[in-house]
Amino acid sequence: MILYRAHLLWSDSLTELRDVKEGGLLVDDSGRIVASGPFAEISRQHVGAAILDLRPHWILPGLIDLHVHLPQYQSVAMDGLELLPWLKTHIFPAEARFADAAFAKAAARKFFGDLLSLGTTTAVVYSTIHQEATDAAFGVAESCGIRCAMGKMMMDQNAPEALSESTETSLHQSAELIQQWHGKADGRLLYALAPRFAPMCSPALMRGVGSLSESTGAYIQTHLAENLAEIAWVKQLFPDCATYTEVYHHHGMLNGRTLLGHGIHLDASERALIRAAGASIVHCPSSNAFLQSGVMPLRRWLNEDLSIGLGTDVAGGPTLSLWNEMAMACTVSKLRSALLEEAEATMEPVEVFHLATRNAARALGLQDRIGGLAVGMDADFLVVDPRQVDPGERAEDAVEHILSRLVYRADPRMVKATYVRGQRCFAQGS
Ligand SMILES: [Zn+2]
Repeated sequence: MILYRAHLLWSDSLTELRDVKEGGLLVDDSGRIVASGPFAEISRQHVGAAILDLRPHWILPGLIDLHVHLPQYQSVAMDGLELLPWLKTHIFPAEARFADAAFAKAAARKFFGDLLSLGTTTAVVYSTIHQEATDAAFGVAESCGIRCAMGKMMMDQNAPEALSESTETSLHQSAELIQQWHGKADGRLLYALAPRFAPMCSPALMRGVGSLSESTGAYIQTHLAENLAEIAWVKQLFPDCATYTEVYHHHGMLNGRTLLGHGIHLDASERALIRAAGASIVHCPSSNAFLQSGVMPLRRWLNEDLSIGLGTDVAGGPTLSLWNEMAMACTVSKLRSALLEEAEATMEPVEVFHLATRNAARALGLQDRIGGLAVGMDADFLVVDPRQVDPGERAEDAVEHILSRLVYRADPRMVKATYVRGQRCFAQGS
């Protein structure tokens, strides 16, 4: 058992932070938190525990990225196009390179290593259509220690030739990967079926995805209502469905383990379908700005009790940093408020921190496991030095101010170490 000594900070609700200034986090050999609170008390009750004094650094729960594309990492920041032409010009050629499994493995090492270095302990990841590359990426995730839900991309219609697959192959290979990886490493590795989006998925594929999720407990991740040209295309391809969301609902793809990327342009009936299914929306504001897709009305969707987390959506978003994503969620909410005169639109760092931790854990059904620093949870946490982002280098300040600087002034140097299930997976300078 190790007792970590530091200032503890985590989110209790959308508006409430919890912190323990002279804190202690006691982690057992299996990586579970067995005590969390005042250091003096815990050290008295557990005299035999080894102590690791991290002061003046802080301990925060690990960040959870609910939407990111591994094979697109090298294509970040290719500016100038909207979604559909951007996919064709930059992304599909990049994904085709993952036919080479050795290339894929090297890319996965860089990707997961960088995620951990930025404080992301859990990621929900799209791979490419390639089974071998996806298997290799899971292998890298297993050895580097990150927690992830991942799946091979699925697309059996309207896809470029190099990335086309039959419905049967897509479902069969996904089923094999579920068998191999879902629940592996004692539940640290999970499978997330990844039908790209409705235009590239046949009705048979979508139905197959729904039933595979049902029978195996695997997640479903896909894209929804991101871009107006995309939405028009869906209308044209599925004239019998009233809305984009209805396409997924009709084919059995909406359940409590479904993560819907973007969801910018949704009408009330679509939101009702998502809520009724218990599915979650993943807000990706950097990507939405970069590809000129739009600005999701985050505050309104939250007020309607939709389940929402955050995603970097690399390479739609330019960085793997969820810190940047949190800042962007605040910034675009303020712009929305100013431009559309939606007085209530603005979001604050305390709230987006909740979305990136507790709310994201809930979207995954893992709220008892990750996203906080409570007893019984897995010890997924990061060690940060808030002085790195404070021009005043203050050792003390109001907790809200400190969190706000971490969000708005995020700098890779502030993350000193990242732990998943008690294992140190990243340490600065080593
Ligand atoms: Zn995406």
